[in-house]
Amino acid sequence: MAEKSVTILGSTGSIGKSTVDIIRRYPDKYRVVALTGNKNIALLAEQAKMLRAEVAVTADENNYAALKELLAGTDTRVAAGADAVVDAAKLDADWTMSSIVGAAGLLPTMEVVKRGKTLALANKETLVCAGEIVMKAVKDFKTTLVPVDSEHSAIFQTLEEKHRDAFDRILLTASGGPFREKDLAFMESVTPEQAVAHPNWSMGAKISVDSATMMNKGLEIIEACHLFAVTPDQIEVLVHPQSIVHSAVGYKDGSVLAHMGMPDMRTPIAYALAYPERMESPTAKLDLTKLSGLTFFAPDETRFPALRLAKECQAKGQTATAVMNAANEVAVGAFLNREIGFLDIARVVEKVVETSDLPPVATIRDVVAVDAAAREAAARCLKG
Ligand code: NAD
Ligand code: MG
Repeated sequence: MAEKSVTILGSTGSIGKSTVDIIRRYPDKYRVVALTGNKNIALLAEQAKMLRAEVAVTADENNYAALKELLAGTDTRVAAGADAVVDAAKLDADWTMSSIVGAAGLLPTMEVVKRGKTLALANKETLVCAGEIVMKAVKDFKTTLVPVDSEHSAIFQTLEEKHRDAFDRILLTASGGPFREKDLAFMESVTPEQAVAHPNWSMGAKISVDSATMMNKGLEIIEACHLFAVTPDQIEVLVHPQSIVHSAVGYKDGSVLAHMGMPDMRTPIAYALAYPERMESPTAKLDLTKLSGLTFFAPDETRFPALRLAKECQAKGQTATAVMNAANEVAVGAFLNREIGFLDIARVVEKVVETSDLPPVATIRDVVAVDAAAREAAARCLKG
């Protein structure tokens, strides 16, 4: 097979490391153009050396000299700063993994879209804050967008285009996170350590907290609306603690096509990397005889108000979801820094959404401005 050129935005994170783990197994198949990271430059340099990357970029300007030093004597070019990450996204690559966390991924991801090649999208916040603009650009630039979020990869694989008119609903599964069975009194005083200890998936800190509040499922409802042109009322969230059914699509005739697999992100990453073919992945094979059962429950929006909030914001439009996303990023950061309690996260988000102006957004620049204003509003809310 011909060599494929690849870039990984956010190569040092949880998704980034899993992507590197697949690519490193096939040195003749993939040529690595750019790798980007932020604080962990030791890992970034190690990855760049191992994969002989053409470019390594740290988003943190203060890390430039140290990264340069770590990569001295190699052919890898080094750059630093947020603009350098955007420049790395502009470099020609057949396939790009977008796995930066948060709205920081928006501008680089948009540059990938504009190149019209293949975008493997893990960075769901990009669609939450600018889904309409991004999806229009995907169409205009004829970009191949393959979702990496496990649920959306599952839906992508089971939503049959040829039977689109017979589509009935999406069944979006959720693990329920570490506090699935806990009451509000317990949740009021949980620590960051308890919140990031996800029962089934090993992930970055921000998405782990989002899973614990179920804001992650709220973000995923919005993500699915943009990816699959559906509305929240066509999506049924199901708490499924075993994380084996990654999501399903129901049809008018009563058929439900579900996607199953072990909870290992290397499966949806490999799917996106090989698309439209399939490839081997190092994921353990699913053995159904070893499962003690698969269970499904309706979610509890009283204990997990983030779910309701996300649906309300999606109904209000793209500005509201951008505000919600920014406020959530600030609130999660404050919780991880022990400045606020776990249940305050949704309170802060709700307050910021309620009190923010929601001007229409037409361009990415507008979204960036809305995002910045919402971050300031969230910071004020934390102080007050
Ligand atoms: P992570 O925190 O482990 O990694 C984040 C990556 O982004 C790192 O490479 C970091 O260096 C980089 N980064 C952080 N701040 C940055 C900034 N300001 N500018 C540029 N780069 C920056 O996160 P993760 O768990 O790998 O998640 C990444 C994305 O994938 C998120 O959007 C998340 O919602 C999504 N996702 C993750 C999983 C998972 O299993 N981890 C599953 C589905 C979707
Ligand atoms: Mg997911």
